[in-house]
Amino acid sequence: MSTQTHHDPTHLNTLADVFTVEPNQNPVSDAKREELIDKPAFGQVFSDNMTHMTWTKGEGWSDRRVEPYAPLKMDPAASVLHYAQECFEGLKAYHHADGSVWLFRPDANAARFRNSAKRLYLPELPVDDFLGSVAALVRKERDWVPTRREYTLYIRPFVFASEPFIGVRATQEADYCVIASPSGPYFPGGVKPVNIWVEDTWFRTGPGGTGFAKCGGNYAASLVGEYRGIEHGCEQVCFVDAATKTYLEELGGMNMFTVHKDGHLETPSLTGNILPGITRNSIIKLAQDHGRDVVETMIRLDALLDDIRSGEVTEVFACGTAAIITPIGRFKSEKFDVTVNGGDSGDLTVALRDELLGIQLGESEDPHDWMWKVC
Ligand SMILES: *Cc1c(COP(=O)(O)O)cnc(C)c1O
Repeated sequence: MSTQTHHDPTHLNTLADVFTVEPNQNPVSDAKREELIDKPAFGQVFSDNMTHMTWTKGEGWSDRRVEPYAPLKMDPAASVLHYAQECFEGLKAYHHADGSVWLFRPDANAARFRNSAKRLYLPELPVDDFLGSVAALVRKERDWVPTRREYTLYIRPFVFASEPFIGVRATQEADYCVIASPSGPYFPGGVKPVNIWVEDTWFRTGPGGTGFAKCGGNYAASLVGEYRGIEHGCEQVCFVDAATKTYLEELGGMNMFTVHKDGHLETPSLTGNILPGITRNSIIKLAQDHGRDVVETMIRLDALLDDIRSGEVTEVFACGTAAIITPIGRFKSEKFDVTVNGGDSGDLTVALRDELLGIQLGESEDPHDWMWKVC
């Protein structure tokens, strides 16, 4: 089955046309914008406009608009501030050499956003509204998409319970917004392996929890572990399963892969505790394209440490939209300290990263039709 018609920019543009544009009348100057894009402070600088929609129990979704980026007016009793009914997405707009601007698998973000919302008992945004809202903003903010290689416009759609009500029940009002932040390469000085703290005391989620939903609550729960890692000299934390403390799950915001001596890859299976990453899914497909076996399985921490020490596991990497692929150089906890591949980036890790980045930047063929042209 071909999905080619969905990738026709006229389709995306039709979905974006539904959004009324009432733009910021005081955008930053061209010179200031160029400066902000050139030295992006990730997550601190936002473009001039945002997309906004509202939902009420009676009316459903309405009020599709692109409006000036500005603080939201919110009642102090809004449910999200008390009970954390919120979920979000993260994707990027990529500039290609011919000046066009593209998204990577936004349909997958749209589908995941619906799954997250369902778990949080929030209204599910129709896929077409997700695609249209993102495209409408990117089209409007096209000048905010950096042109330097590996620089992108990071896009953050999110939905939250805005009804002023501090009783506990499903919200009857919600707001959905999309904001955009110019971002630079995750590794400005070139890809470098990170040290990982293996956290076995504080967990981000547990069986039947919200691990598979991309929600703020998981991040709130992960911070104690993140900071325990930082205290031990690690940049990132990896969580083991809360029920048995036996199996590796994922990092605070990235999935994980191991590369084995015989060339096959393994990644923790989607047990419900793990966020189904779009980068994870794409890497599985790329590795399979090259004839490699990819096994989705429960990865025992003790076995992995043994396999790293014995040379059975040669590379380990983390993956997610922000960094694409991050080599892991070391696993550390109160009980062990194990170096992977001499602390260097593995060859396959680097090759997969280059391949995926090449597709996203339009430098390589896109055999799976992952790229969507916006403008
Ligand atoms: C977003 C996220 C990922 C990575 O997902 P991608 O779709 O690849 O960006 C992994 N883990 C968590 C907890 C996340 O929130």
